[in-house]
Amino acid sequence: MTLGSGSMIWFRKGIRIHDNPALEYATRGCSNLYPLFVIDPHYMKPDPNAFSPGSSRAGLNRISFLLESLGDLDVNLKKIGSRLLVLKGDPSEVLIRCLKQWNIGKLCFEYDTDPYYQALDIKVKDYALKAGIEVFSPVSHTLFNPTDIIQKNGGKPPLSYQSFVNLAGEPPSPLATKYSSLPPVGPLGSCDISEVPTIKDLGYEDDQLEFSPFKGGESEALRRLEECMKDKTWVANFEKPKGNPSAFLKPATTILSPYLKFGCLSSRYFYQCIQDVYKSLPKHTSPPVSLLGQLLWRDFFYTAAFGTPNFDSMKDNRICKQIPWKDDDKLLEAWRDAKTGFPWIDAIMVQLRQWGWMHHLARHSVACFLTRGDLFVHWEKGRDVFERLLIDSDWAINNGNWMWLSCSSFFYQYNRIYSPTTFGKKYDPDGDYIRHFLPVLKDMPKAYIYEPWTAPPSIQTKANCIIGKDYPMPGQCCHLVLE
Ligand code: FAD
Repeated sequence: MTLGSGSMIWFRKGIRIHDNPALEYATRGCSNLYPLFVIDPHYMKPDPNAFSPGSSRAGLNRISFLLESLGDLDVNLKKIGSRLLVLKGDPSEVLIRCLKQWNIGKLCFEYDTDPYYQALDIKVKDYALKAGIEVFSPVSHTLFNPTDIIQKNGGKPPLSYQSFVNLAGEPPSPLATKYSSLPPVGPLGSCDISEVPTIKDLGYEDDQLEFSPFKGGESEALRRLEECMKDKTWVANFEKPKGNPSAFLKPATTILSPYLKFGCLSSRYFYQCIQDVYKSLPKHTSPPVSLLGQLLWRDFFYTAAFGTPNFDSMKDNRICKQIPWKDDDKLLEAWRDAKTGFPWIDAIMVQLRQWGWMHHLARHSVACFLTRGDLFVHWEKGRDVFERLLIDSDWAINNGNWMWLSCSSFFYQYNRIYSPTTFGKKYDPDGDYIRHFLPVLKDMPKAYIYEPWTAPPSIQTKANCIIGKDYPMPGQCCHLVLE
């Protein structure tokens, strides 16, 4: 083996084999390929003080989804003669240790715009450059390169969807590379490699895990995508926000967000599949409401986030309105723990905790309720709860949407409020969604399901749910005023 003829593909997001430019480049002309993932304690280590099981940064549902995604990647790599090498520790330290031992000439990883990775990647690139290792770090998490869009816009990110779309054009096509085999993994030296851990290996108990119906991994992502694309009429007629936020047996949207978040699914491949459907059904919806338009929303927020210093805070964020929000932990906890006494709001917060996913308009309802709609709590506090509990939790999209919903940026019609009692009723007059996620209200008659405190005592007794005892009265857990 010649010096430096090995390649390392460092997986962080981009946990996939299809349309993976970093992987494709890593395989070119190399004798040994080292596919690596580093378990970062910062992200994975149990935090006993957190309000729900998980680490200081992520709830257990998302950690579990990530482990499933890594397991799937490992299986798929093994099918083509390779495997995933898992190491634990501070990623830059681990990586540099491995680079020193493995005779690596090329280090390849997907470019990441999140501040956490921006800081980490500087350290790693710095080392690699000094050691004479070639670094290849392509943009492939998003459709477009945010830097290009910002440049086209004179150095600033476009702050309206339409101006973003006007600048964007067509994204690069996904790579069509299929691998029948990969170069073998080379000698591992003394690096402490393990298989993909289970949540137990990381120090969690199985019974700490909520039941989430979504299984991580590229295989599942591609299966879900194929399933969605089969119904061409549905794809062509997709129109958001027209879907039903209370549909939970067959949700109204694709639920591909967790797979996009971890890069189990390439957004460019998703885009191409939608375009293929549009070719066969030329009469289709258009951005911003179409399915293709949803992917553009994703890139819009990525670009805005990348080009805006302090995007994740109100302070020193030039695009964020300065609002004197309340700092009231009691209100926040009532909202977070599904104890506001408004069944529509509480059911959504239970779905968040159990599934780690809710429909976009359900997210609108609870984000509006926490901020400008009812409780007037700071959007950053709600953002933190979402960041922890969502399996699709995404730094750019989450912060962007919280600013949107709190009318802090992008959207300013603060008088357009989602009613916590009538909005859900429009879609689900029988309250099936509430009954499912709040079984304490399962026998409450339809007439009272959205406002159970208005049910006469005899009805509450018959429904086995006394308001104020079995389920909160609005204002009981937080000082809400009923109008
Ligand atoms: P689909 O409707 O099937 O759309 C396909 C894809 O388009 C999604 O998977 C997603 O990647 C993208 N997309 C759709 N809507 C949006 C949007 N408004 N902004 C940006 N991208 C979009 N989405 C996240 O992926 N991560 C988050 O952390 C997140 N936090 C949110 C917080 C709030 C307060 C709100 C209101 C919305 C948030 N969203 C977030 C956006 C949106 O709700 C989800 O992307 C969507 O519900 C995911 O479901 P889906 O995959 O079925 O979407």
